[in-house]
Amino acid sequence: IDQVVEPASKIERPAFGAAHATHMPRAKKYDYLIVGCGFAGSVLAERLATQHGARVLMIDKRDHVGGNAYDELNEHGILYHKYGPHIFHANSDEIVSYLSQFTQWRPYEHRVLAHVRDKLVPVPINRTTLNTLYNAGLKNDEEAAAFLASRAEPVKDIRTSEDVVINAVGRELYELFFRGYTRKQWGLDPSELDKQVTSRIPTRTNTDDRYFTDTHQIMPLHGYTKMFERMLDHPLIDKALGTDFREVRNEVSAAHIIYTGPIDEYFDWRFGKLPYRSLRFVHSTIEKQQFQDVAVVNYPDAEVPYTRISEYKHMTGQEHARTTITLEYPSAEGDPYYPIPRPENQALFKKYEALADSTSGVTFVGRLATYRYYNMDQIVGQALATFRRLDEARTKVGAS
Ligand code: FAD
Ligand code: UDP
Repeated sequence: IDQVVEPASKIERPAFGAAHATHMPRAKKYDYLIVGCGFAGSVLAERLATQHGARVLMIDKRDHVGGNAYDELNEHGILYHKYGPHIFHANSDEIVSYLSQFTQWRPYEHRVLAHVRDKLVPVPINRTTLNTLYNAGLKNDEEAAAFLASRAEPVKDIRTSEDVVINAVGRELYELFFRGYTRKQWGLDPSELDKQVTSRIPTRTNTDDRYFTDTHQIMPLHGYTKMFERMLDHPLIDKALGTDFREVRNEVSAAHIIYTGPIDEYFDWRFGKLPYRSLRFVHSTIEKQQFQDVAVVNYPDAEVPYTRISEYKHMTGQEHARTTITLEYPSAEGDPYYPIPRPENQALFKKYEALADSTSGVTFVGRLATYRYYNMDQIVGQALATFRRLDEARTKVGAS
């Protein structure tokens, strides 16, 4: 990666959607205090304000809305995702039509290549991957299935992320595509992670090279942040950005709290810390129109310190003489991006969940508060379901 003109640390200046941080409105009374302005918090703020006429105060310790889906123009005018590439995909018409109130879309089918044995090959592994790596000359699905079956090592009781892959493609492909990547990304061997992690990636015998097969594969036409701004543009919604719940929890007057931060933090880590995996994003802008052929190239090789390189113009459709890319370096320290799916962590989460269930006046929602490896559409679905429950509870109170 030469020709880099802009080190990451310099791409800081927000172009829109940020830094209009308000001061904490202390005297005002609110129906809801919503902690976190990501998908979970924003969907609930919008629903409660527009459907219940509720007065909502949203806070976020960051100086912008959108949570991890936040995007902005960098100083070159290129739209990039501050917290790594966010690709929208969903099967639910309801979720898409809900979000469509706040944005137009552009069609975008995500494709990923992996750098393996000095070749760039499609991921998920498909027939093209096998033919390219092994010169296998597989002509149809049946031949590819037979090829994979001859390598697969059937696992009776599939529990771990290693089991899933070995069972489907055998040890060699597992080591080439999954072991190094997963060890880097999670700091754990795939055998130490629940099967749900690598189960996200299918194995194909056809030549479909799309990363997702969902019925909706679209990106917000003007970016995520613009969509959030429209969602939250309501006279009953106040925002206090750059505001940490821990510092204001005793100062805000609200009848109910919706909390979308880490659940263990809410309870002052009473039972110990829930492990989250973090990433360091290194954003760079390059003096050419295109850096790589597809939006994301994965680097499963354990010797390469980053996991993947993303190039935003593929996702956003933006035309520009330069291009912005992001390298992801996994790390144990930093913002909590990924809950780590493994049995002992789930057991610890269950203790916090039980405590949450017995805590009145607070609703826990979102990826950090429910400690699940959820995609954006799933969080929107979770937030809409939470709203329905609040709505039913309100109707009951109203009726009695
Ligand atoms: P978040 O977006 O994390 O929002 C929580 C907010 O709470 C944050 O803004 C945080 O600052 C705030 N907060 C936390 N603690 C406090 C506190 N004490 N006080 C005040 N505020 C606080 N999903 C997809 O569908 N497609 C993708 O391609 C995709 N790619 C991803 C790539 C990466 C690198 C990551 C990390 C995630 C990706 N996701 C993707 C998942 C997606 O980011 C989440 O599903 C979604 O953003 C979760 O929304 P949320 O509101 O639950 O949480
Ligand atoms: N994975 C891998 N090699 C790849 C792609 C994915 O080992 O080339 C594993 C890895 O453990 C990763 C998980 O599959 O964390 C899920 O991949 P996904 O692309 O869904 O990760 P995300 O976009 O959520 O970071």
